[in-house]
Amino acid sequence: MTSRIIIAIDGYSSTGKSTFAKAIASVLGYVYIDTGAMYRAVALLALRGGCVSGDNAVDETALRRLLVGGGPVDISFRTSGPGGRSETWLDGENVEKEIRTMEISRIVSHVAALPFVRGYVDRRLREIGSGKGVVMDGRDIGTAVFPDAEIKIFMTARPEVRARRRYEEMSARGHSVSYEEILGNLSERDYIDTHRETAPLRMAGDAVLLDNSDMSIEDQIQWFKDLLKQRHLCGY
Ligand code: C5P
Repeated sequence: MTSRIIIAIDGYSSTGKSTFAKAIASVLGYVYIDTGAMYRAVALLALRGGCVSGDNAVDETALRRLLVGGGPVDISFRTSGPGGRSETWLDGENVEKEIRTMEISRIVSHVAALPFVRGYVDRRLREIGSGKGVVMDGRDIGTAVFPDAEIKIFMTARPEVRARRRYEEMSARGHSVSYEEILGNLSERDYIDTHRETAPLRMAGDAVLLDNSDMSIEDQIQWFKDLLKQRHLCGY
């Protein structure tokens, strides 16, 4: 590809966005940015700071103070994982493992619905994406963060396929959690993400839909190469 572009990937929870985004970033030699990890890190900050009550209600004033009150906290990605894998750091601490738990999955969409949290994350993402040559996945990348992204993809898959994938992924990581709990969590997050007032999850008018329910990752990469060809973006 001659000039570097931004590729925005949005979609429902556990539709395989990160697997797909990482694969196409590697095809293009681009940087992959997992924007959900930023919201998960803010959720961890909220949890540790005692800003979340039993019914997942967030104390906005307390969280705002923690996030931006004393000078903004630092959430960043570093290639510190095995094989140079990107990991999430919160104020100098590697929190990659802590942000992937069910406890965080239960509260993250509540935290991500707060406008000041979205403002904070958006600023960081725009800084990171300013040099282009990035693949970002999330819920509002093509609609709010980078509305001018050159390629926008909206991903979906059947709910039971998504829950099974997430169940296998979490079991492989040693988390003990039931399939039913995961299915319930995915549909609750989708509901909150699509119904919030600020930057709700929706497909951008100029996005291309990718339903990968019955596609392997190889099929998806081929689908992407065909898309580049159609758009005359490179010589695959
Ligand atoms: O991608 P992941 O499932 O890790 O994202 C966790 C949560 O972060 C989502 O359920 C959503 O509430 C929030 N999120 C968001 N906007 C993004 C990325 C994630 O609201 N761009």
